[in-house]
Amino acid sequence: MSKIKNKRCDLCNNLVSIRCRVQDQKLRDWVLVCRECWEQVKDDSQYRYGGTWKAKKK
Ligand SMILES: [Zn+2]
Repeated sequence: MSKIKNKRCDLCNNLVSIRCRVQDQKLRDWVLVCRECWEQVKDDSQYRYGGTWKAKKK
């Protein structure tokens, strides 16, 4: 049995299976955000893209 372990978006708290990893340049910390939030932060110079997280690896 394989379960998809959804995780919470760090910005909106929705449970999602795919999150984008972005670095908050002000806090110098990594946050994992859903695609919707990614759309909002990708043009923001405060955030730097750092890859994609997926719930399922195989
Ligand atoms: Zn979100």
